Amino acid sequence: MSGKTGKYKKIITAILTSFILLISVTAVTGFIFFTKNYDIVIETDNKQEAHVKEKAKEKNSVPGNAGNTPQSTSSLTTEKVFTVVIDAGHQKVGDPGQEPVAPGASQTKAKVASGTKGIVTQKPECEVTLEIAQILNAELKSRGYNVIMVRESNDVNISNSERAAVANNANADAFLRLHCNGSNDSNVNGALSMCQTKNNPYCGSLYTYSRKLSECVLSCLCAETGAKNRGVSETDSMSGINWCKVPVTIIEMGFMTNPAEDRLLSDVDYQKKLAAGIANGLDLYFKN
Ligand SMILES: [Zn+2]
Repeated sequence: MSGKTGKYKKIITAILTSFILLISVTAVTGFIFFTKNYDIVIETDNKQEAHVKEKAKEKNSVPGNAGNTPQSTSSLTTEKVFTVVIDAGHQKVGDPGQEPVAPGASQTKAKVASGTKGIVTQKPECEVTLEIAQILNAELKSRGYNVIMVRESNDVNISNSERAAVANNANADAFLRLHCNGSNDSNVNGALSMCQTKNNPYCGSLYTYSRKLSECVLSCLCAETGAKNRGVSETDSMSGINWCKVPVTIIEMGFMTNPAEDRLLSDVDYQKKLAAGIANGLDLYFKN
């Protein structure tokens, strides 16, 4: 029996050893495989996380912080408030003192011309432009605009370059210069607007905006009042335009040398139509 027992022991030992060896090999192989796969998962997650962070950075670099969800939502729902600067042309007493026609220009012009006068009403231009400017101020405020008036009295002395500076300092979205026209021919009537040429060496870069502003305001003014549309004139001779760093238009609302138009320009109902027309023009300008 002892010889047989020894033989069985050897066989059992051999089987057990093989079994243990097999389990060990399986365990080690399994561990290595598991560890490797685990590393891949970790690496993939890190890469994805890094990618997401990069995307977030890209989004945050968009102007207006578009990557920030709460802020981008509020910027979509909050409408921009446009700033409009109104300059009622002229003043009680003109200032013949000279100032450069543009920044750095050697050519000079009177700081403020005295303006025209009503052929029937005998009113000076500065009074009519201020009356209409005040109605326009109220009209634009009621439409939600931020309005800044260059002057609210006739008894001031503000040069044309200083008037442009008011609009520049306010970073105005539109600068409206209200005027009335004069002619040696009392038959001439109607409204026109003015802006710089596209080759203006001082503010030519704003030509497209000023031209569009001039067109919108003039066409809406004429539609509202029935005044003859004399078109948009382009000129680089106006100090109050050359000094501008914002979109600008001069609106010649009618001829005070024409009896009928002179009366209308001082008529409150017609002044309200002028203001409504100009405001409609601004609405149109900012809508496009
Ligand atoms: Zn004028």
